[in-house]
Amino acid sequence: MAQFKNYINGEWVDAQSGEEFERRNPATGELIGTFAKSGSADVDAAVAAAKAAFDRWRKTPAPKRGEILFRVGQMLIERKEQLAREMTEEMGKVLAETRGDVQEGIDMTFYMAGEGRRLWGQTTPSELPSKWNMSVRKPLGVVGLITPWNFPLAIPTWKIMPALICGNTVVFKPASYTSRSAVRLVELFEEAGLPPGVLNLVLGSGETVGNALVQHPDVALISFTGSNDVGQQVAVECARLGKRVSLEMGGKNAIIVMDDADLKLALDGIVWSAFGTSGQRCTAASRVIVHEGVFRELADQLDARVSALRLGNGLDPQTDVGPVVSDSQLQRVHRYVEIGQQEGAEILVGGKIATQGELARGHFHEPTVFINVRPDMRIAQEEIFGPVTALITVRSLEEAIQVCNGVRYGLSASIYTRDINKAFRAIEDVYTGILYVNAGTIGAEVHLPFGGTKATGNGHREAGQAALDVFSEWQSIYIDY
Ligand code: NAD
Repeated sequence: MAQFKNYINGEWVDAQSGEEFERRNPATGELIGTFAKSGSADVDAAVAAAKAAFDRWRKTPAPKRGEILFRVGQMLIERKEQLAREMTEEMGKVLAETRGDVQEGIDMTFYMAGEGRRLWGQTTPSELPSKWNMSVRKPLGVVGLITPWNFPLAIPTWKIMPALICGNTVVFKPASYTSRSAVRLVELFEEAGLPPGVLNLVLGSGETVGNALVQHPDVALISFTGSNDVGQQVAVECARLGKRVSLEMGGKNAIIVMDDADLKLALDGIVWSAFGTSGQRCTAASRVIVHEGVFRELADQLDARVSALRLGNGLDPQTDVGPVVSDSQLQRVHRYVEIGQQEGAEILVGGKIATQGELARGHFHEPTVFINVRPDMRIAQEEIFGPVTALITVRSLEEAIQVCNGVRYGLSASIYTRDINKAFRAIEDVYTGILYVNAGTIGAEVHLPFGGTKATGNGHREAGQAALDVFSEWQSIYIDY
């Protein structure tokens, strides 16, 4: 049986306790392997290795750091298919999407590798003669990266690549469900010749490994992506310890469909954004805010489209929607379906845990659409993180924007309209980190800042140049001559 270990100071090692945990395929229940079940002693060892490696790594010229990233990017291209298949086995999303996940990792890796030749600072005029002023980026030291399971490769690359290119050393703690993808990514760095200690991997639970990383006095920054409940605890601890923290958390994203929209285009966007990754995306469209003039037509067509979606193993090319990641996630999603019904919303399509035939072996929930939803219902306010979306009817663009903004989160939103004035009104008035016009709420390009407003985050951004601001700090330099 495959056994997966921690990577500390350039060595693959068991957890010091010798304990392991298992991961099973969420579509079939088959065992994927066993993984090091680490504790705080393993985190201590990883942080010590990262601390010892920091001085040499920060003095490695940034273009040379970038060369290692380029090699990793090349290997990601060569192994894309294998990595995608393993990811589908590990967390369930369909192969087309796990290929996209690896592609996102490739794009981020090459983008940040290229930044090694820039990492621009500034020069500015001085108030005084014979004086020259400038500012440069400096790394922070040892950084702790904590990631979720829904993008097992893309999200780690969003953090690891800018952290390394800026000259930090890293302790990486992935979600336990997707530890194998994390091991595969770290293996590429080893093969690419990254010096020992620069990137360390510690597998295990959030409560032990994640928390030990947050608490460790030698970790300068925690970059966290995950749920609000955990992110808020992490933020409190980091504030107490005077530590930097970057947070990317939940979403309750809406697609607005106006009465002048191209409905076929809007339906494509809704189906993809609500049910891609079985709705387990921070940017998933879990609300559709539809103008009353097109509600009936949209609802009827959505019913037909969603009824035709095929549930199944993500490795099967016929499958449209894979399993959710775990049984606890399945139960949580279904509880929300029950809550929606108790609140008086009506199921248009779906609504059940799927148990027919082979599906009984995995964690499958029918893609579900609610109608007769009020904006204040829990299913319209809380992150469900599953294949469930809620249609909310409005009478005007103003009301649509008000409903769109009327949640605690602010990650992604979209508007379908043929009227450029309405599109610009939405750009001006919708308060989310990401806004799409005539496209769904999901899908990001790595050279743009990614992240959310309000309860979704703390203002830091991943990807784009903004990621460099998370992983470096400015030094201002005054030179008299
Ligand atoms: P989660 O919060 O349960 O776990 C995230 C990570 O934190 C995991 O590695 C976990 O082991 C770790 N963790 C758990 N408890 C911890 C603790 N006490 N201290 C430190 N670390 C701890 O989230 P999840 O279920 O893995 O992911 C789903 C969530 O992630 C959703 O809410 C989703 O919206 C969010 N997400 C946000 C973005 C974004 O960019 N905004 C992207 C993807 C996912």
